Amino acid sequence: MKRIFFLFVELLCVFSVFAQVKVVAHRGYWDVDGSAQNSIRALEMAAEIGCYGSEFDVNITSDGVVVVNHDATINGIRIEDNPYSAIKDVKLKNGEFLPTLAQYLECGSKFPDMQLIFEIKGHKLPENEDRCVDASVAMVKSMGLQERVEWISFSMRVCERIHQLLPKAKVAYLSGNESPLAIKERGLTGIDYNEGVIKKHTEWLDEAHQNQVEVNVWTVDGEEDLTNFANDSRIDIITTNKPVLLQKILEQKNQ
Ligand code: MG
Repeated sequence: MKRIFFLFVELLCVFSVFAQVKVVAHRGYWDVDGSAQNSIRALEMAAEIGCYGSEFDVNITSDGVVVVNHDATINGIRIEDNPYSAIKDVKLKNGEFLPTLAQYLECGSKFPDMQLIFEIKGHKLPENEDRCVDASVAMVKSMGLQERVEWISFSMRVCERIHQLLPKAKVAYLSGNESPLAIKERGLTGIDYNEGVIKKHTEWLDEAHQNQVEVNVWTVDGEEDLTNFANDSRIDIITTNKPVLLQKILEQKNQ
């Protein structure tokens, strides 16, 4: 009887570890000296602190170079309307040059234990979104990183194109206006919604899990919200600017 009890306790431990929420650093781990949002250093630091994944954003230039940047413009220059030569000398806040996707993935390939949470931004022109998807997918394939990349986008056009090109890839939609079932029917694998949307549509959490749709919530930075989401077993991933704080909350939870 005692052995059965301990086996039961062990199983509970295994399942509680299995159910642990995953920590994704939003734009890398940048809230620290020497780092900057979407910098190579932020990617390295997310790996150094042991995040499950590091998120980053990309846009494509008029001549087909995919660059890592959150906004559609940098220093007032619209990326999709300009050649790479117009932005290649722009520096980030930590002194790094604006990273290209090739440079970024080369760095990411050195950290096999961390997933690359790859956001393709919406572009002004749909054909530029298509070019950005095609160039990004081609580069990920050529570097053999298909298993390491999880794709996200606010653009359903982008999500569906990635799914067409890489049917086995994880693809999650960001805009928050479709139910998990609708996402599954499109062939996508996850919802990655703003914390306000998740709080408003708690019924989607059960629906997601009944349909094997992964749930990622962004961008959660407050201690109370991080704790509440970390304690909700229906949340699979939390994307945060405060990955170290979330890790501490998870450590305390497991003590
Ligand atoms: Mg992003």
